[in-house]
Amino acid sequence: MTGTLHIVGAGLAGLAAAVAAARAGSRVVMHEAAGHAGGRCRSFRDDRLERVIDNGSHLVLGANRVTLAYAAATGGLEAMQAAPPCFPFMDMASGARWMVTPDRLPAGIGEIVSALGMPWVSRHQTVAGRLGRSPSFARLWLPLCEAILNTSPDEASARMFAWTMRRALLGGSAALIPWTFPLGLSAALVAPALATLGMFGAEINFRRRLLTVSQDSLGFDDATVSLAPEDRVILALPPWNLEGILPGLGRDMPTRPIVNAHFRLDRPAVLPGESHFLGLANAAGHWLFTRGDVLSVTVSAAGRLAECANDDIAALLWAEASRAIGQPAAAVPPFRIMKERRATLAHDALTIARRPGPSTPYPAITLAGDWIASPWPCTIEAAISSGLGAARLALGRKTLAFAR
Ligand SMILES: Cc1cc2nc3c(=O)[nH]c(=O)nc-3n(C[C@H](O)[C@H](O)[C@H](O)COP(=O)(O)OP(=O)(O)OC[C@H]3O[C@@H](n4cnc5c(N)ncnc54)[C@H](O)[C@@H]3O)c2cc1C
Repeated sequence: MTGTLHIVGAGLAGLAAAVAAARAGSRVVMHEAAGHAGGRCRSFRDDRLERVIDNGSHLVLGANRVTLAYAAATGGLEAMQAAPPCFPFMDMASGARWMVTPDRLPAGIGEIVSALGMPWVSRHQTVAGRLGRSPSFARLWLPLCEAILNTSPDEASARMFAWTMRRALLGGSAALIPWTFPLGLSAALVAPALATLGMFGAEINFRRRLLTVSQDSLGFDDATVSLAPEDRVILALPPWNLEGILPGLGRDMPTRPIVNAHFRLDRPAVLPGESHFLGLANAAGHWLFTRGDVLSVTVSAAGRLAECANDDIAALLWAEASRAIGQPAAAVPPFRIMKERRATLAHDALTIARRPGPSTPYPAITLAGDWIASPWPCTIEAAISSGLGAARLALGRKTLAFAR
């Protein structure tokens, strides 16, 4: 391609497309509505906590190979931390604790085979319909379903759940290695990508919102960019932002919220087993994450909780979190509540079937984003894979990769 590649949206999908294309020698210009990159996966300094926090705690697995390749190519991998493939859990009702490891799943073989999708899973079967009666539902399949699909098991697709389970459980112990972000999401997945783009001469325009597209122009709130016949465009926007720009695309895509509470403690938070995360069963909070003296609680598929007042959410989640780390619950420490109301799509069979491919009515315009059709649910891996795939399509280079 001899023209310019315009990429609209500097979330992980847009950044991945830009990094792959710029490293391959293309002229890249990015356009981002916000004043920062990272989209739904970013860090910022919170003045009340006086700490850098993430919009929400994220975790990736070794099975997320495209994510790790992107982080390695930009240098961001150095800001990520791998841990042994052990997932500690605590039952807040009984106090019981257990560990999920590749060779020690707290479930019978019949349940595991069923979770992996054998025998065949029908398209409309839900996770609860398939695994809801199994003895390990509450302590294993329910927390995994909510964490991976951000959707209640009553509506989540058993087929997509089975696909992710096969990737994680049949990929050897490396596939289950948890990678966390001790310096924050931006230090690993955003800032190194921006530095790489700078090195390769890519241009980034922040605070520039796309309003309209046509075959030969992009209409932004501050300028119109004409497209030459050899130029290409990647729209790396979520469906709710694309809807008004390309009518017919991005419609009827229901989403689910994730709520995060970040508490600043008076000393570094230590979780049982000194892990950096802990799964909770029979609790309002789903996962605890520690980073120095900040303890974070994640609630996925957080429907009703996302409508509650921040003070009430903090009180509820702190009461559990303080018990889990063995601290008196007395006063709620300084906190920040983050409500990501459209964290991901709902991963029910109908919504999954509506995820579109990357093509648009305009041959020069390709779509990218975590919601574009793929076997992955809306995750970092889906976003980065889709960005790389869009760059391959736009540049007509099937083997384009992050590393040269
Ligand atoms: C709280 C939370 C926790 C999560 N936890 C995990 C996890 O543990 N593991 C995991 O793998 N995934 C997790 N995810 C999902 C992951 O963050 C997303 O899948 C991923 O960040 C999506 O990236 P994206 O580039 O597709 O979209 P986005 O991040 O939404 O990026 C789109 C970008 O486009 C910009 N934009 C929108 N409209 C316009 C416009 N008109 N013009 C110009 N720019 C525009 C936006 O500002 C944004 O920067 C989580 C998400 C959230 C919110």
